[in-house]
Amino acid sequence: MVDISVIFEIIIIRDFVFSRVSHGNMKVLIKGMVIVMEKILIVDDSLLQATRLKDILDDEYDITIAQTAEDGLRRASAEKYSLILLDVVMPGMDGFTLLKKLQEEIITQSIPVILITSLSDVQNEYQGLILGAVDYIVKPFNPLIVKARVNTHIKLYNYRKQVEHQSNTDQLTGIANRRQYENYSSVRWSEAVRLETPFSICMLDIDHFKAYNDTFGHPAGDKVIAAIAGTVSDALQRSTDFVARYGGEEFVVCLLGDSSGKAFEYMKKIRKSIEGLCIPHEPSVSEWVSVSIGGVTVIPKAKYSYDFYLKTADTMLYDAKKNGRNQVVWADEKMRQLWEK
Ligand SMILES: [Mg+2]
Repeated sequence: MVDISVIFEIIIIRDFVFSRVSHGNMKVLIKGMVIVMEKILIVDDSLLQATRLKDILDDEYDITIAQTAEDGLRRASAEKYSLILLDVVMPGMDGFTLLKKLQEEIITQSIPVILITSLSDVQNEYQGLILGAVDYIVKPFNPLIVKARVNTHIKLYNYRKQVEHQSNTDQLTGIANRRQYENYSSVRWSEAVRLETPFSICMLDIDHFKAYNDTFGHPAGDKVIAAIAGTVSDALQRSTDFVARYGGEEFVVCLLGDSSGKAFEYMKKIRKSIEGLCIPHEPSVSEWVSVSIGGVTVIPKAKYSYDFYLKTADTMLYDAKKNGRNQVVWADEKMRQLWEK
């Protein structure tokens, strides 16, 4: 005789797994293994057509359906999709218009879009590819072709993301590199101009680092750079906080929305936590490894030059060094200096 409780258990586990898959949760737990499913957005006014596509891809991907272009755009901006399958002919906003809008938004422009077209739609296909779609799928669907194309584009997308990540990351420390900083700072600076919100630029430099390297060797010096990068990036947890390795033993931090007083206090805490790592320095130089920090806070206007404020932060850093190191010096919104020591 079959044990009914075992059957119930199987049904409960199955429903649990299915509900996790079908309710947009990327992580599915099966026997303790975490399988991360890539998310795909299908934008199609025909529910029948969208459901057919969903059925083809459902076992490997986490699928969401949007039945209007507007809903598709909203979802694409709000969640992280690895691919969008987009129907061209829809009432209201059509697929091409949505494709253009996706390309204009920073958040959505890198998501690959595959167009869904009919066999007779050669002109549409051409236009879609010109607009930036990566591929097209012809109705009626051949499940094997759909799967193969989707798999290929998701693989390519992930590869591209990986390459992008590597080219924006400092190898030694794992934090942003100077290239990412250049992009980030210019985007955020424009944002601060538009929002009329304070922007802080801050330079951070390890004290007597040459002496450290000369005494303990470069591999030990690299460990210090990595430890400090880790401490700073752990401390900067808000979504608008940013730190990058600027070069050698120098780091740059950008903060958005803080007054000079708040930014100054924030960086003082970070300076103290680096001192608190208690990394022994060459004793004749200092007891522990420390950093000097120079920063500036400005409410930027369109005519202001970013480079001028970056130089100001550098001058504050120079003053911190001159005044005995292991301290923060700041220029406030009125260019008055704030001294820690
Ligand atoms: Mg349609």
